[in-house]
Order: sequence, then C-alpha cells, then structure tokens
Amino acid sequence: MPFPARAGDPLAAIDTPALLVDLDALEANIAAMAAFAREAGIALRPHAKTHKCVEIARRQLAAGAVGLCCQKVSEAEALLASGVGDLLVSNHIVGAAKLARLAALARRVRVTTLTADAAHVALLSEAATAHGVTFEVLVEIDAGDDRMGLGAQSLLPVARAVAQAPGLVLRGLQAYSGPLQHVRDAAARADAAAETARRAARARDLLEADGLACPLLTGGGTGSFRDDAGAGVLNEIQPGSYVFMDTDYARNRDRDGGPYRPFAQSLFVRTAVLRARPDGVSYVDAGAKALNLDCGMPDVAGRSDLSFTKASDEQGRIEAAEPARAPALGAALHLVPSHCDPTVALYDSLVAVRGETVDVVWPIEGRGART
Ligand code: PLP
Ligand code: MN
Repeated sequence: MPFPARAGDPLAAIDTPALLVDLDALEANIAAMAAFAREAGIALRPHAKTHKCVEIARRQLAAGAVGLCCQKVSEAEALLASGVGDLLVSNHIVGAAKLARLAALARRVRVTTLTADAAHVALLSEAATAHGVTFEVLVEIDAGDDRMGLGAQSLLPVARAVAQAPGLVLRGLQAYSGPLQHVRDAAARADAAAETARRAARARDLLEADGLACPLLTGGGTGSFRDDAGAGVLNEIQPGSYVFMDTDYARNRDRDGGPYRPFAQSLFVRTAVLRARPDGVSYVDAGAKALNLDCGMPDVAGRSDLSFTKASDEQGRIEAAEPARAPALGAALHLVPSHCDPTVALYDSLVAVRGETVDVVWPIEGRGART
C-alpha cells in the first residue's frame, strides 16, 4: 500500500482516511511519562501494543525506558529493530510454533514472559531447553480483575515450579489490572490501585518467605500509573496508551473532578466529507474499518458542534448542531478515536505531523501481528 502522504506535504495533501500523530503532543507525552518515572524512582517499560511502531519504541527507549512490553511474539519480532534489549511478552505463550519463535527472540535479547499454571511452566521449560535458551518468567497474579492471574493460595506451587524448571528463571510478578485503568472516579481508581498493590505485596512476601527471589514487580497503565507509584509496591510500570490517548481515557475523572488529562491527545484519524446533505448531515470516509468502536463513536477534534453518530463499514455519519456550519463536500475533519490501540492496529502507517506540515510517515511495523 502506498503511504497516504509524504514528508513536506501540507495537511491538505494527505489522502484519507489516514492515521495522524501530532508530533509535538507525542513528544510531550513520551517526555512527561519518562520524567514522572524518573522522579518517582520507578522503572518504565512502555507497552508497545499501543503503537506497534519501531520509531515510537526508539523514542521511548531514548527517553529512558528500561525495555518494552509486547503482547504478541510477532509484535516483539517486529519491534526488535528499535534496539530494545529487555522485552516482556506480557502474555501466556502457548504452542510449539510460538515458543520456537520466542526462543529465537531469546537468542537476541533478554526475554521475559508470563505464566500462571504449572502445566504451562513445563511447556515453557521444555521449549527453553530444546532450543538452548533461557526464558525469564513472571508469575501473573490476580491483580483484582479476575482474569488469568493467580490468587495467593495458588501462587507458590507455580512459582516454585518456575524456580526449579530447567531453562527458566523466576524474575518476579506481573500485577496488571485492565479494568482498574478505566475506573472513572479518581478516588475509586486510587482505591483499586491500592488493592492491586496489596495483592502484589502479599504475593511478593509469600515468595520471599519461601526463599524465592522476586526482583521485578510490574503492572500499571495509563489510568493508574500515579497511584501505582504512590502505593510503593510495584517497581516498574507498563503504560501504553499515554503516547496517544483517546476519548475513553478522557472519560476518566481526575482528582479535581475534571477530565483525566495527564497527557495530550496526539492521535487522530483524518477523514474527508464524501457527501454533505443540505440538512446538515454529512458522510465521511472513515467507518468501522478505519476506527475501532468498542468504546463508542469518535469525537470530532475542535468541533464540539459536530457529532459522529453512526458508522458503517466504510462511512461515518456526522450531524451538525447548526446545518449552516456543517462541513462542506471534500472538507477534512480530524477524529479522536475512542480506543487508541485497536484503532492503530487497523493502519499500515502513521503520518507524523508538525503544525500544518507532514514531518515524516512511519510504517507501523507490528501491523497485523496477531501471532
Ligand atoms: N500491560 C498490559 C498487560 C496490558 O494488557 C495493557 C493494555 O491493555 C497495558 C499494560 C497498558 O495499558 P494502557 O494502554 O491502559 O496504558
Ligand atoms: Mn487499550
């Protein structure tokens, strides 16, 4: 696929729909999270599933990140070119093909991955020894989200199995809660983060009382990072969405009751008006194949008088509060995605814009990384 724009193009020359990143906002977000982690004395391992883009990973590492998280083995492969040396595949890797590829990664960089099951530990160990590599392993705890992690009663047998398994090294605990990130009320979010921290501390104490080292306690995301650092249990945070942000995160509230905006919105989908009806309804060339809609319809940036009300596969419907101010045929609008990472995953490239000009177009190397 040709890229939708070239360096030096004015905004008007960008073909649509296109995924845009505002470079000033992106750079500010990367710097702000790095500064936060530095000042809080907590390690930062950004989650690269949000952007899947080598150039953004490079910038996060240059700003002081200790490594990256990836969710997929193929995503990790795609992002090796960033120069990352310490990769956490924050998922449970199952299957001979994937484990062989994880082993190939472990020949090149430090690879850590997750488990929560003694039978899975045996599979990881078998793959590591068969391929002659070492996997570092975090035992995933139930961080309060009742997903794949272990409660305190079932933790020790799995941790011991990791510690004793050939080819594996127990590195610590994964304590990430997804729902916690999107608890709307700031005080309730802080309480939920404190509960995750209590669970992580209890799990760490259990391991240490059993003579097992637990150097890494990692978790936390864009919604909880301040509360996670404040709770003082995790020694690493793994936020992803902070580079881009989205309208779902904007629905979180901050401590003062206002919208949660520790970072600037940097991600947009540029779309063009295909049909402007006289009644103020317009149709644009971005629908469900250009926007992930699991968290609702997008906003129209800078135009609170326009509502994106409906998406079909290839078109979106926009309604203007005042028909006279509706966008004209051919006009371009910038949409703010409701959920950034699954939206990014729909695109091959990211048009990086500075002010009114295209600065550079980055390939999204991890696009299509499903395995
Ligand atoms: N860590 C893990 C394991 C995740 O699954 C995610 C996102 O879902 C993150 C970190 C990053 O979360 P966020 O994008 O909300 O910062
Ligand atoms: Mn997400």
